[in-house]
Parts: sequence; structure tokens; C-alpha cells
Amino acid sequence: MTGGIACVFAHPDDETFAVGGTLAYYSAAGFRCDLFCATDGDAGRSSGVPVSSRAELAALRRKELRSAATTLGIEVVVMGGLGDGTLHQIDPTPLIGEIVRFLRQRRPAIVMTFGPEGAPNAHRDHRAISRATTAAFFLAGIPTEYSDQLPAGLEPHCASRLFYVAWQPPPPEAELRAQSLAATAAIPIARWHERKLAAFMAHETQHDHVERFKTLGLSDVEYFALAAGTPQPQPMIADLFDGLAT
Ligand SMILES: [Zn+2]
Repeated sequence: MTGGIACVFAHPDDETFAVGGTLAYYSAAGFRCDLFCATDGDAGRSSGVPVSSRAELAALRRKELRSAATTLGIEVVVMGGLGDGTLHQIDPTPLIGEIVRFLRQRRPAIVMTFGPEGAPNAHRDHRAISRATTAAFFLAGIPTEYSDQLPAGLEPHCASRLFYVAWQPPPPEAELRAQSLAATAAIPIARWHERKLAAFMAHETQHDHVERFKTLGLSDVEYFALAAGTPQPQPMIADLFDGLAT
């Protein structure tokens, strides 16, 4: 089956914070939603949850992510297994290859990731996953790229649209003042707040950030900016699939 949404992010909880309402909405509407998460989030703190090593934190965060994914209706979660905080330092070629493989396997219509600015906190992993996903969006459709994947039964895949996470320009007094690309899509998520908050609460090691989540994550709308692919029928759309043949 083709035609769903594939998200590519850097850390467990990015999917909830950035696009959790949108995923809850589309999965409930019957669209398949899948996630590639590049790292285990093993460099963060654990909000008082007792953890004795990075490996233990990684295992815990993978488990939390599976629980959050279930809450949001995400069907498949693929873990990249890379070190938290390392994405900007590594050779991006293998990471791009793993995202290409993910797109060829899941065959989405829509791909979403952070913008090149790296989300409001401009995290270096967020910036790196944006670059890698942008490359993979195009390369997945070219048969001579990562061609070693094809004998295993995979086919090249051209997704219809690549969207970056976007947001409205913050007020001058905002804690995080970074701006995104101008939004071209606005998905109303107010009726999905409960689900989005439940997904965040599944990330138990991140509970120290719950107030920030409630302030920044529970807006009425999640915004996106069309980065590549099929042009939108209007400059601003309220459905990421608007104008695509489904
Ligand atoms: Zn993150």
C-alpha cells in the first residue's frame, strides 16, 4: 500500500512535540503513519527516572517511543540507532541510505521532517536530520542511488511531497525566537490535544519538560512548509494531501 505519511526525526519525542496532533488526526482518518527515529535519545536527562547508563536510558527511551507511537496511531517505528548528539558529526551517507531504505519500504505519499533551521531550538541533530531527509526524499526515487537495496526486493520510490515542520513567527519576548520557513499548511489539532499530551506523557524520562510542552506543543494548529514535490492547489492548505490523487 502507498499513500501514507512517513516522519523522519532525530530523537524520541520529536514526533510528539512537532507533529503529534497531525499524526493522531491522520492515523484516526485511516492514513498509515510511520516513523524513522535516527537516535535513541541517550544523551538527555531522565527527569528523575533512575538510570545507570546511557545504554539503559536508550532502552528506556525506545520503549517510551513505542508507547507514544501506539498512542498516536503510528504503525511502524524504525530506529536508526545512532548516538544522540552525533548526527552533525557523522558521515551522512549511511544515514541517508537508511532513510532511503525506509522510504522505499514504507512508500509514503508525504514525508515530513524538521526544516533546515532545526526546529525552534535549532538543535544540531534536528538540522542534520533535515538535511539527510531532504537528500533521501530525492534519492529514494533514483534507481542508481543506493542500488544495493534493490536486489532485496525494494523499488525506487518518489513520495509526492516533502513538508518541513513550521510555526508562526514568535513574539519578541518568546523564549525560543528562531523562525521557520513560511507555513504553507495549517492542520487544526485542538481536538487531538488529549491524545498529543498522552503521547508526551508516555515519554516518562521527559516529564521535566511538561510545562514547556503544554506551552509550545499544545497549540491549536500544527504548521508545515512545503519543501518539495507536487505544488499545492492553494498557497495555504488545511490538508497535507490536498490536490494529490489518493
Ligand atoms: Zn529532538
